[in-house]
Amino acid sequence: MDSIQKVLIDLFFRGTMKNTSTFKKIVFLILLTICYIFLQLSQSKFNNNGLTSFNGVLMSFQFVCFLLMIFIDYNIGTIIACICSGLSIINVILLIHKRVLPPFVPLPGFFNTVIYLVTLLILVHQFKKRDRETVTDFLTGLKNRRGLFNLLNTKINSNKSFYIVYLDLGNFKLINDNYGHVFGDSILKLVTEKMSEIIGKDGVATRIGGDEFVMVLNENSKVYQITQNILETINQKTSITDEEGNSIETYITAYAGIAKYPDHATDAENLIKYADIAMYEASKSKSHRIVRFDQDMAKNLNRQLEVEHLINEALEKDYFYLVYQPQYLLDGKKLRGFESLLRLKTPDGTFVSPAEFIPVAEKKDLILKIDDYVIRRVMNEFKDIVLSAPSPLTISVNVSAKNIGNIAFPQKVKKYLDQTGFPASNLEIEITEYCFVQSVETTIENIIKLREMGIQIALDDFGTGYTSLSYLAKMPINLLKVDKSLVDDIEKDQKSQDFVNAVISMGHLMGCEVIAEGTETETQLDILNNQKCDFVQGYVWGKPLDYEVAKELSLK
Ligand code: C2E
Ligand code: CA
Ligand code: CA
Repeated sequence: MDSIQKVLIDLFFRGTMKNTSTFKKIVFLILLTICYIFLQLSQSKFNNNGLTSFNGVLMSFQFVCFLLMIFIDYNIGTIIACICSGLSIINVILLIHKRVLPPFVPLPGFFNTVIYLVTLLILVHQFKKRDRETVTDFLTGLKNRRGLFNLLNTKINSNKSFYIVYLDLGNFKLINDNYGHVFGDSILKLVTEKMSEIIGKDGVATRIGGDEFVMVLNENSKVYQITQNILETINQKTSITDEEGNSIETYITAYAGIAKYPDHATDAENLIKYADIAMYEASKSKSHRIVRFDQDMAKNLNRQLEVEHLINEALEKDYFYLVYQPQYLLDGKKLRGFESLLRLKTPDGTFVSPAEFIPVAEKKDLILKIDDYVIRRVMNEFKDIVLSAPSPLTISVNVSAKNIGNIAFPQKVKKYLDQTGFPASNLEIEITEYCFVQSVETTIENIIKLREMGIQIALDDFGTGYTSLSYLAKMPINLLKVDKSLVDDIEKDQKSQDFVNAVISMGHLMGCEVIAEGTETETQLDILNNQKCDFVQGYVWGKPLDYEVAKELSLK
């Protein structure tokens, strides 16, 4: 009883019986066919008895039978409905032929049946079309996200193991931004073509978002080999003709993550999520472009969710505080100022390092809230200090790529300066080369605006990125921060020493001052001093200090 209720709800409210088992569908189809035959026989009986007026009612019921059959299963239902209506037509022809009734009496019934049949075929055609459209990606003709979920659910119901491969084009946004959407679309079509060709009969390719594809591959397919072939074919110099007929050459980079049913997850949503996580690992990895999911990744993900929760709680309940690491003039150890560094400590003593929570916050837009919090807190804590310090102090704030790449950022900083009364010339904003990868134009515009306001700009972690030097030379940057990884080796080998020397000279050539980060020993200090490095920040002269200690040091 319960299952009949479920089937009817599915049928009438969802217009589908996709969730019903094949056995139940067959039982329902048989019942409807019997019902139809019974109605047909009754019709002949009423005709014989002269009760022809009752036939209209019976015919309507027959029509309902047809409709239900088709809803239950497009293919089998349609065949049965067509056979049934075919039988009705034969029945009518027989009635006329045998002259059981006067020749014109069965004719309206005959036409009715034909009209029913045609109406049904049109209906079926429309339903099929609608169904196809809702599961198809219009650009590539592949299945879309909904189509993928349908496919995965069918596969999961059949309980056979299979693989899913999440594939993402790493530089697609850049291609789209540089060459326009029409060109981007051609790239997607090209990728689709290559992918479908290589997969062949081993599986199905789907497109679930802008540049995100998911392949579903059969259990015995050579999943790694297929994925590798696809990536190799995609990751080549590709030339495509644009709208105006120009041939454009571009490199497409792609990464893939693999998850397996049922080993990694037993539902569609988690399978996709896990393959996506593996793909993300591949995109970060320097050596692997294909990564298989493993449970450690799930653990990391859970930790990330935990940290995300902690960040939200910290913002809400004020568990964040700032420490300040002093920066000194190398020649003479005069205090230049401080870099503000964020800390998170919950009342139960749990401490989370910024090296862990900043990347999590950066993935979500939480970093925007964090940056705002830090800027305002630094200004509030240091406003009076910078105004009364015996010598000018520069207070640095780390700002994420998302913020510096946002058109509204300079205005926001201006608002905070006005609200707190913090002098703009005592503020320094630290950005990384990564900011230029994210959104070049806005970042440059913002840097110029901030400089015009009197704010200083430092380029953090210098020496770890890949930005072209000619490009950097044009940036209005005040300070170059040589990364700790470069400073670490200067006392060990001559090559590293020469390299840091070159970086310092280059910084000066660009019109910047240079600070060495993470300086830990006296020997490093001596070398850097000889190389004419301007400032130093590191454990050798000062670890990050609590606010009160930093305040005392500033006013000395
Ligand atoms: P960063 O901006 O490169 O900061 C320098 C990091 O190196 C700090 O770690 C600092 O404590 C550490 N450090 C400084 N001198 C030495 C040294 O001599 N030896 C060693 N071993 N380490 C040294 P911290 O505070 O853990 O910060 C890590 C990263 O987290 C920062 O790297 C920065 O990218 C991010 N971060 C920290 N605070 C903030 C913040 O307020 N906003 C944003 N957006 N990011 C922040
Ligand atoms: Ca920094
Ligand atoms: Ca740094």
